[in-house]
Amino acid sequence: MCSVGDGFGVDIQDVLEPKNYECNDCGNKFQGIGKKVTCPACQSNSVKLA
Ligand SMILES: [Zn+2]
Repeated sequence: MCSVGDGFGVDIQDVLEPKNYECNDCGNKFQGIGKKVTCPACQSNSVKLA
């Protein structure tokens, strides 16, 4: 019993939660997931949290 412990301390919720971004180049507003987010309209990685 109890052989399956809580060995997985991964914060999955923090990674999969989409956030609102705004592109600095074209002003497009979109949702992105993860740390490396690029604009879907112009493929720029110069984005900021909206
Ligand atoms: Zn853009």
